[in-house]
Amino acid sequence: MVGAVPPYDCAMSNERTISSVAVIGCGTMGAGIAAASAAAGCRVLMLDLSVDAVERGMAQVDPDHLHLVDTGTIESDLAKIADYDWVCEAIVEDLDVKRDLFNRIEAVRSAGSVVSSNTSGIPLRSIVEGMPQRLRSDIAITHFFNPVKVMRLFELVPGEDTTDDVVAAFASFGANELSKGVVHAKDTVNFIGNRIGCYFMLAGLHRAKPYLANGMSQETVDAVLGQLVGLPPTGLYGLIDLIGLDVMDLVGKNLAQNLPDGDAGHAFTSFPAVEQRMLERGQLGRKARDKGGFGRVVRGDDGSKTRETFDLQKELWRAPSAPDLQNVPTAMGEVVFDDSAHGNLAWELFGGTLLYAAGLVPEIADDIANVDNAIRWGFNWKLGPFEMLDHLGPARVIERIQREGGPVPSMLQTLGDEGGDTFYRESSSGREMLMPDGSVAPVPAVDQ
Ligand code: NAD
Repeated sequence: MVGAVPPYDCAMSNERTISSVAVIGCGTMGAGIAAASAAAGCRVLMLDLSVDAVERGMAQVDPDHLHLVDTGTIESDLAKIADYDWVCEAIVEDLDVKRDLFNRIEAVRSAGSVVSSNTSGIPLRSIVEGMPQRLRSDIAITHFFNPVKVMRLFELVPGEDTTDDVVAAFASFGANELSKGVVHAKDTVNFIGNRIGCYFMLAGLHRAKPYLANGMSQETVDAVLGQLVGLPPTGLYGLIDLIGLDVMDLVGKNLAQNLPDGDAGHAFTSFPAVEQRMLERGQLGRKARDKGGFGRVVRGDDGSKTRETFDLQKELWRAPSAPDLQNVPTAMGEVVFDDSAHGNLAWELFGGTLLYAAGLVPEIADDIANVDNAIRWGFNWKLGPFEMLDHLGPARVIERIQREGGPVPSMLQTLGDEGGDTFYRESSSGREMLMPDGSVAPVPAVDQ
């Protein structure tokens, strides 16, 4: 294993070495993790319930790397994991099923091996509750994003008892062998990327309604929430079409259960009525093919393809319309301060997400850099929330919040109290950032 990623100590990282990976559960994510590990030159074991499931997963492995891969079923071959450094669980998202598997893993894995779950939302503390101490100190959540090969974000979440050398081993393997962007997250619901990204989407569905009712088209909503604010062109509806309303529904239910009391996200854990009806009839997004989502592609008998937009006001399919961006400022982010319906939409949906993020440190991460990295690497925003607040001018944002009588989120409050102009500053010793306690610390030199 190569050197560790700050802030972990190199010498400590050398205590644990990952050069082989046993992946259990070879669906979308497990197969992606296995393929990436084999591509990095590691020996890989792929286990699933059936030989068929493993073979489907192996299709993701590059043929040049298949010689590194051994396979089997959980029932017959679990004992093989004793020969692997990292045991990575990527099975169905079900607490009891995962706990049962971890008990079986613990009985056969080798001393010194490290263990992880790829869960997207189950708290690690629930997974390890009452488990043997050896497992509790050797386990973390390694949360990859889909598709593993493409998405740079790798959230690393230690539990209460996870030791530093285990965290260092995962951080180093993720950064140096898998070339991922490692983000250190805390064991809170949906970790960092999905906590903020799903707030943007779920709150967005609700907050866009009055604008649609006043005649703004969905195409315009997506355009305002795309390039104009440094987000990908999918904006709001295009992004949810990619992910699927079924996934968003599960995310909402998990948030309803696990968000802390008083969190602003509680207001948006279920869908507006129209989107709920879409979910119920299977109009989930791109994965629903002909049924579509907020958009669809209609294939004609002659092989032609016609795009359509699902009009959320009329609940009817219609031809797409060009977004109306007349007189909207084009400099990145400026639309947020524009005195227009477009500006108000951008302030409420995009600005609202920035303010939500600004209230979540240190709850979900120790520092703002981990939040910014998670959102840039996981959602392809040009700037993370704190970088964007710096770009917009925090004083201008605070002034707007106060004028509207809203609460100033904790990190903006800390910045205001400290008298600083921006969250990030350049100093003679490099880039620094404001910490939640008002002190200033160096930004870890991760590859940006
Ligand atoms: P998937 O359905 O594609 O694959 C799950 C695999 O687990 C299947 O191959 C299945 O055969 C196996 N499995 C099912 N029941 C099992 C059982 N009782 N015991 C052992 N194996 C069983 O799922 P996925 O999308 O790869 O998700 C796997 C994990 O990764 C989940 O915890 C999920 O929340 C998480 N995750 C998913 C995504 C995503 O976008 N798909 C992203 C990040 C994290």
